[in-house]
Amino acid sequence: MREVGCPEEELFSFLSLSRQEDLGYQNILSSMCTPPHPVAARAHAMFLETNLGDPGLFPGTAALERLLVRRLGALMHLPEAGGYATSGGTESNIQAFRIAKKRKRTRSPNVVVPESGHFSFQKACDILGLEIRTVPLDAEFRMDVDAVDGLVDNNTIALVGVAGTTEYGVVDPITRLSEIALDREVFLHIDAAFGGMVVPFLDRPIPFDFRLPGVNSISIDPHKMGMSTIPAGCLLVRDPEYFSSLNVDTPYLTVKQEYTLAGTRPGASVAAAVAVLEYLGMDGMRAVVAGCMENARRLIEGMETLGYPRAVTPDVNVATFSCDRAPAGWRVSRTRAGDMRIICMPHVTRDVVEAFLGDMSDLDA
Ligand code: PLP
Repeated sequence: MREVGCPEEELFSFLSLSRQEDLGYQNILSSMCTPPHPVAARAHAMFLETNLGDPGLFPGTAALERLLVRRLGALMHLPEAGGYATSGGTESNIQAFRIAKKRKRTRSPNVVVPESGHFSFQKACDILGLEIRTVPLDAEFRMDVDAVDGLVDNNTIALVGVAGTTEYGVVDPITRLSEIALDREVFLHIDAAFGGMVVPFLDRPIPFDFRLPGVNSISIDPHKMGMSTIPAGCLLVRDPEYFSSLNVDTPYLTVKQEYTLAGTRPGASVAAAVAVLEYLGMDGMRAVVAGCMENARRLIEGMETLGYPRAVTPDVNVATFSCDRAPAGWRVSRTRAGDMRIICMPHVTRDVVEAFLGDMSDLDA
């Protein structure tokens, strides 16, 4: 650290130089995040110093966290669901496995996860000492549910389905998974970190949430399609009582026990998440999602016209192509299988899609 502090102006020119090195979202087609909605940014600034790790000191912010859980619970068809605001999908997935592990004591626990599962499940298994059993995918990159039964055994503590896979944007056959979970008495966690804020707003929503009786917990991230500030995730559970197994004593705080993974937790991004939900409502979210889905459809149509076929027809706004080139100046990503992957987030507007298609077409000229 410096012996003597730096003058403010000098400090901020240094910071702005660093910030200028960042890419603007304008040409980023590879991210599941997006610039926060203006109401999210405004709410975030209002709650900057709030700490949900000590909720008795910030009862207003704590009430907003409960409101967030109620709103997302209702969106997942269980307004009385338990839940709390996490730092994102990774923390939610880790915590879901912690709960599942506490609920079924066994010597060598395993979890059954689709091959499309986010890498956060590997972290969770490493931390919790779980064997990960991978379920193969079908030709459309959805979990092959016929393979699940053979992988589940008496040591299986959790089964995972994904609603909106990170790479190909498809929803696993969760109705079938729910039946299997009930039949085999296994905890079913749904990773809807991305799709949770998309699928409920589609013209024809695909079932994946608490309406299915076998679903025990859901990860859903406001900092992705919820257009909140970072970090804003949420873990929802069918029964708030599930959390009691994670409680540790916190003698010197305003609450005497906590079940969250993080101690100090931001209230600002929680207020931001609530702000977007309240401001847009179901109607506004439907319009945002409809726009993203339409842009994904147009991108797929345009790429196919240029001779780059889709890898799959996605359920959410993630478009993938058999295409090994990309024009300069654009950030696209690649799936493990090498397909080009573009996420049509709210900042990827129709104009952006047309500009990208124009540059793709110039590549062939
Ligand atoms: N689950 C899914 C399906 C995701 O797509 C992601 C991130 O893209 C995560 C979990 C991890 O979320 P985070 O990066 O917020 O921890």
